[in-house]
Parts: sequence; structure tokens; C-alpha cells
Amino acid sequence: MRPAQAIIDLKALCNNYQLAQTISGQKAIAVIKADAYGHGSIECAKALEKNASAFAVACIEEAIELREAGIHNPILLLEGFFEESELPLIEQHHFWPVIHSPWQIVAIEKAHLTKPLKLFLKLDSGMHRVGFFPDQYEKAYTQLMATGKVAKITLITHFARSDELDCDYTQKQYQTFLQATKNLKAETCLCNSPTILAHPEVKSDWVRPGIMLYGSPPFEFPQAQAEQLTPVMTLQSKIISIRELPAGEAIGYGGCFITKQHTRIGVVAIGYADGYPRLAPNNTPVAVDGKLVPLVGRVSMDMLTIDLTNHPQAGIGSQVELWGKQISATKLASLCGTISYQLFCNLKRVPRLFAY
Ligand SMILES: *Cc1c(COP(=O)(O)O)cnc(C)c1O
Repeated sequence: MRPAQAIIDLKALCNNYQLAQTISGQKAIAVIKADAYGHGSIECAKALEKNASAFAVACIEEAIELREAGIHNPILLLEGFFEESELPLIEQHHFWPVIHSPWQIVAIEKAHLTKPLKLFLKLDSGMHRVGFFPDQYEKAYTQLMATGKVAKITLITHFARSDELDCDYTQKQYQTFLQATKNLKAETCLCNSPTILAHPEVKSDWVRPGIMLYGSPPFEFPQAQAEQLTPVMTLQSKIISIRELPAGEAIGYGGCFITKQHTRIGVVAIGYADGYPRLAPNNTPVAVDGKLVPLVGRVSMDMLTIDLTNHPQAGIGSQVELWGKQISATKLASLCGTISYQLFCNLKRVPRLFAY
């Protein structure tokens, strides 16, 4: 069997969820969209179902998958419904759709429903993707209430730059939100992971932790709260070949690494087809039997090469961690010009093993 695998530590997931609740002091909606950021949404939902106030996914397909797996918690649909034909299913499964566009209000007005819906009304406070502008927000709220088909509306917005230091955009968005909603008496749902961790001044009844559940700090800088997170996914494989090369030899596609001295190269059974980033540069750290060594040469589809010259004990069969508790996915992503979210979502082909 090919030794590449992703170990998913569900206990760490539960601890990270607990931390989101403790730090915010509020009800936490566990964001498990995109197959729980590559961690396995059904397994993650089962691990969290007893404690989680609710789950959030991107679309109804993801939500139905959870219902079919026996998950009964409320499920927030972050992009709402894409067509009005989804409304009967939303009613049947008690999903909570986000309402972000006028056409969705019209669809609710026209819909034949037997039970009132619980909705989340999106304000565009500065992200400028979806949501009602501040001057249209109160009207949208009133219109929805007037349909007679709504049991409850929660006020929701999303922060664009709360992962940055020395940036007042979160404050601006928060003030925009407070101003636009000042006449509305309703619960609020504001904070994603970086806001929970770094912006305690932003208060909301519900928070929406995503990446922090998976134990990956959403910051480019050290952050005290984020240090309490435990990485959930360990991407690992083994060394399958060793070769000794003299100075001046090129390794792998494109010859982008040339040995400077007599070098001991290890070949690891993992590559970009598994989701390890092809853009990882020379000297990116990997952990071999607990010791850090540099990646050398270009990452291939199914294999990558590392320099074991300073790790003589390592050999065929040695365990290699690509990211996890020793190698930070956040730091690796940064070296590759991306974010850990994308590394996790790109995970493919490797079997996932769930540990409690
Ligand atoms: C994905 C998402 C989140 C979670 O964001 P993290 O940065 O992963 O915590 C929260 N809210 C909305 C609207 C999202 O789309």
C-alpha cells in the first residue's frame, strides 16, 4: 500500500471548537463547507454534533449530505439558495439560508411554505461580494418580515481583513454593521476565525469559526490566542528510495536544484496530485522521523525529493510529515504564496484516517 495518508485528529478538532466557544463566549457555528476544508465533513460533523450549536456549509448539496449521514443539528447555508426550487428542501430539512439578494426575497414571497423559515440576512459591510448595501438593509429586513413566512432573522456580515495587523478595516466594517442595524432587534452573526482570535471588541451572538477548527492559525504573524490551536490534519508519507550523488548533479524536473557537495537524497511518496503544493521552493522544511530536513528539487506529481545529508539515520521507510503538528500548514502555505485553507482543500487521492 502506498504510504501517503492524512491523519485527522478529531479530538483536536473538538478542542479547537471548544476554544472558539471559550474565546468568543458565544454560540459557535462550526464551518464545515468544502468537505470540512478537506478534513471530511461527515466525520467532523459526527465528532462535533453533541457540542456544536450549528454547522455551516456553502450550499444545499453539502447540507443534504450531512442530513443523509444522520446529522440533525441546524445547518446554515452560507450562500443561501441558488434557485427558488431549493426552498421546499430548505423547509423540509430546517436549513438556515443566508439571504443576500433581492430576488431571494421575491422567491420567498412567492413560495408555498407550511412552516416559517429561519433566515440570516446578509449585510455588505465592506467585503463587496454579496449582501445588501447598508442603505437597503433595513428595508430588506422589513420586506422579509412582511412575507409572513419568516420565524426569525439573524443579522450577518463577513469581515474582509480581520487577519491583518495594523488595519482598521474590521473596525470600519463593524461600525458600518452597527449603524445599518441600529433599529433592528435581532441576533447577530459576525465573526470568522481571525476575528474571534484577534478582535475581541467585535461582539456577536453567533460566531462562525472555520479554519481555526482545523488548528491552523489564519495569521502571517505569531498570535497568542492562535497558539492554543492544535493542528487537526497530519499529511504524511514515507521515504521509498535513497540515493547518494556527487556534487554538481541536478535533481528532478527542470534541474532546479544542483547538489553542491556529496548529497544523500531521499525520495518521498507524495506529490502535487495528493495536494502537496508544486510551488514549494527548495529548502521548504519537511519532518523526517521528527527532524527537519529541506525539500530539494521540484515537487513531482507522485513524489518529492529531500536532502538527508544531515540526517544519516533516515532511510527507506522513515516517516515523513509534510504538514501537521511539526510542520505548520500556515507557514508552508506562506512559502508557497497561498494560505493553509487552499492546501487543505486541495487534498486528494490520499486516504484519510480518523483518530479520536
Ligand atoms: C468560510 C466562511 C467562514 C469561516 O471563515 P474562517 O476564516 O475559515 O474562519 C465564515 N463566514 C463565512 C461567510 C464564510 O464563507
